[in-house]
Amino acid sequence: MEEEKCIFCMIASKKVPAKEVYEDPMVIGILDINPASKGHVIMIPKKHYNNIYEMPQEEFLQYMSVARAVGYAILLSLAPNNVEMLYTKELTKGNVTPHALIHLIPRYNDDTINHVWQPQKMEESDFIAVENTIKSAIEKVKSAEAPKPTKQAAEEQKKPENAVKENKPPINIQRKIVVF
Ligand SMILES: [Zn+2]
Repeated sequence: MEEEKCIFCMIASKKVPAKEVYEDPMVIGILDINPASKGHVIMIPKKHYNNIYEMPQEEFLQYMSVARAVGYAILLSLAPNNVEMLYTKELTKGNVTPHALIHLIPRYNDDTINHVWQPQKMEESDFIAVENTIKSAIEKVKSAEAPKPTKQAAEEQKKPENAVKENKPPINIQRKIVVF
């Protein structure tokens, strides 16, 4: 979907009003206008991605960190039993979300939310085939997503005073994660 037609991009750029509960340079959080329960918040990355798998890893970690913090704020303020974090492209059948959203859904004893599926029957040989397929794909994903040293980090590591740090990853992702 093109960004100018995406409702969530329009919300993020304030062309469409929403009840915002959170905002930073990368993400906004709004109340869902069709809430599954009281305090249902949608976290919206300001940059358009069709799904979370298109997001650069570092940006995704930041996004998840912020989503968890907002979820924790919901937990503290509205006192539900739990706050679910839900990523899905299809909340109602056939209604596909065009933007990489994370839903924060408070759960209460008397809510009407029902995650139901029919367990599928699978033969042992099918389990093994699926297991091996996913495992080999994970190896490819890991090698594709391994952090690549920046030029500056590579220069830093060449300095004698930094020699002991050689085995450390060049980028400290933790530093950029928001802590509330
Ligand atoms: Zn969008």
